Amino acid sequence: EEQKDFAEQRAIELKKAKDELEDYSLKLRMSSQYKTDFLANMSHELRTPLNSILILSQMLMENNSDMDHEEVAEYAKVVNTSGADLLRLIDDILDLSKIEAGKIEILTDEVNVTEIPQTMRNMFNPVAAKKNLQFEVVTDSNIPPVLSTDGQRLQQILKNLLSNAFKFTEQGGVTLRIELAPPEKAKKLINKQTREPVLALSVTDTGIGIPQEKQKIIFDAFQQVDGTTNRQYGGTGLGLSICREFTRLLGGVIEVQSEPEKGSTFTLYIPSRLEAEEVVPLDVRLG
Ligand code: ADP
Repeated sequence: EEQKDFAEQRAIELKKAKDELEDYSLKLRMSSQYKTDFLANMSHELRTPLNSILILSQMLMENNSDMDHEEVAEYAKVVNTSGADLLRLIDDILDLSKIEAGKIEILTDEVNVTEIPQTMRNMFNPVAAKKNLQFEVVTDSNIPPVLSTDGQRLQQILKNLLSNAFKFTEQGGVTLRIELAPPEKAKKLINKQTREPVLALSVTDTGIGIPQEKQKIIFDAFQQVDGTTNRQYGGTGLGLSICREFTRLLGGVIEVQSEPEKGSTFTLYIPSRLEAEEVVPLDVRLG
């Protein structure tokens, strides 16, 4: 009897080890697939602006005597925006590799909340106007006027979320809301002892939305809802993983609610005062 028990026990252990191994090898294979997809996307994303820069600058070099002033200015502008696109892409890659190496520094500072709406309006009003979309910023009056957090990183997160919102929306508009987190969300925040108010910053759009089964993976690096090479929207799939990591570094969490063809809301919950020596655990998610 005892021997039988022992054999059964061993069989269970073996099966568990085998499952773990399979799980691990699946993960490995998937991560190498990510990298292949990533490199393919990345090459495409690098080549597009670089091609414009090379072709247009060559035209400017060779034919500038036959061009009128406006034409020259127009080409120069495309060269300039293509360069800016490239720089953004490279900054994203650098940020992500710094995050992965644990080398991102968080600089806590006094951040004036009332400045956030204006900064975002300045940045996104032109995009909104160009696509004929509404852009609304709603700030709750009971939020603390001054935050103690990394303003640069916070801005980067909001910028990423807003540019996605505008990118994936063709009609209607985008709303940025800055308010207090409801108590049940605030309680779940990483820093459980926090007595400080918790903020909820959300970006809502009326765009294409995200299918339920994709809502978890879009925060992983290199993941896009449409991962095919002939996909309609550009991008590298890095923005949201940077957002998630920065949010974690700010002591917060990020979540998404979305319905295909209706729109999406990305919400950031962050403490209004980030303790400098706070240790942020790696894998905390809102349930
Ligand atoms: P990128 O936008 O460069 O592809 P992100 O990490 O920012 O990378 O986003 C990953 C994917 O999540 C996008 O490719 C898109 O499929 C989906 N996504 C992100 N934001 C939105 C949004 N507001 N509406 C619809 N889909 C979105």
